[in-house]
Amino acid sequence: SLTIGIVGLPNVGKSTLFNALTKNDVLAANYPFATIEPNVGVVGLPDDRLQQLAGLFGSEKILPAPVSFVDIAGLVRGASKGQGRGNAFLANIRDASAICQVVRAFSDPNVLHVDGKVSPADDIETINTELLLADLQTLEKALPRLQKEAKLKKDRAPVVAAAEAAAKLLDEGVTLYQGAAGAGIDLGLLAELHLLTTKPFLYVFNVDEAELGNAAFLDELRALVAPAEAVFMDAKIESELIDLPEDEALELLQSTGQTEPGLHQLIRVGFATLGLQTYLTAGPKEARAWVIPVGATAPEAAGVIHSDFQRGFIKAEIVSFDDLMAAGSMGAAKAAGKVRMEGKDYVMRDGDVVEFRFNV
Ligand code: GDP
Repeated sequence: SLTIGIVGLPNVGKSTLFNALTKNDVLAANYPFATIEPNVGVVGLPDDRLQQLAGLFGSEKILPAPVSFVDIAGLVRGASKGQGRGNAFLANIRDASAICQVVRAFSDPNVLHVDGKVSPADDIETINTELLLADLQTLEKALPRLQKEAKLKKDRAPVVAAAEAAAKLLDEGVTLYQGAAGAGIDLGLLAELHLLTTKPFLYVFNVDEAELGNAAFLDELRALVAPAEAVFMDAKIESELIDLPEDEALELLQSTGQTEPGLHQLIRVGFATLGLQTYLTAGPKEARAWVIPVGATAPEAAGVIHSDFQRGFIKAEIVSFDDLMAAGSMGAAKAAGKVRMEGKDYVMRDGDVVEFRFNV
């Protein structure tokens, strides 16, 4: 499933952020979550369209696309050399589809920085180095075994070559996500090794409230991580927002010059980083968002609801969310010729409102 791992040095605001995320029960409302681990929080992808759809269809429930966050504790400077709990964090991070690094950019002298000074650039370097080293160690450990296998089985030779090329890249300080394609490395060959830097990285800069409107400051931080995505928030304010009634939360947000909570941005950016989008279904029971990769076809989208829908796919009745809202009802959208019948080659678009026709 779609999981974002949260990493960062101690005392940068990870727990504050994680708690704010997981207390966000406005988003999570109505989602039938399974029992989950204490370090895992599932939140809904914020999507105003679902409320509007639910209004139109009289839906009882709203089910946003679920996004999981995992608090990955224990990644500290020197973890690869056994500092802290060493590489114990690896077990938690393997299943994440993206890695979100929280970086301290707030100044509060009452909060101790582990290295004695607030330096986002240094902190990013420290964490990224640990992730690169973790992958290097994984590769160095695996290589003798892979080489032995390649002697017995010819078809394993490309795996050895890919592993050696990957190690070289990491040695140069380049993550596999950034560098593999350019270096001609087929990461599929290394999937069995669960390398961490094959995942996209994104960054949350935890800044002082007063800096949220300081575009020059934020641009400087953004430049540290580009082309990776950066989200800016004051984690302390975010955790306060969660506890306020909606109107007061909005007031506080506006007083900091923002139009939406940083947490919402983070969920959306994390989602987009993974190359995902949603299509929508609606009826009297529920208005719901379903997660598909960008580029998915109509039968593939149907398969996300149920594999039988994909197998028995006949066609999809589709109207774009905007057209549906402009028309005011499904009937009016049909009368206006905005509802299309699409076949198995149709490539889905974000915000398609869909009803599938299928054989069972
Ligand atoms: P973690 O070790 O990365 O999980 O950090 P915590 O979330 O526990 O935060 C460490 C300390 O920094 C706590 O005392 C928080 O209240 C404080 N803190 C977290 N975020 C902010 C922030 O945005 N501004 C300020 N001033 N303090 C923060």
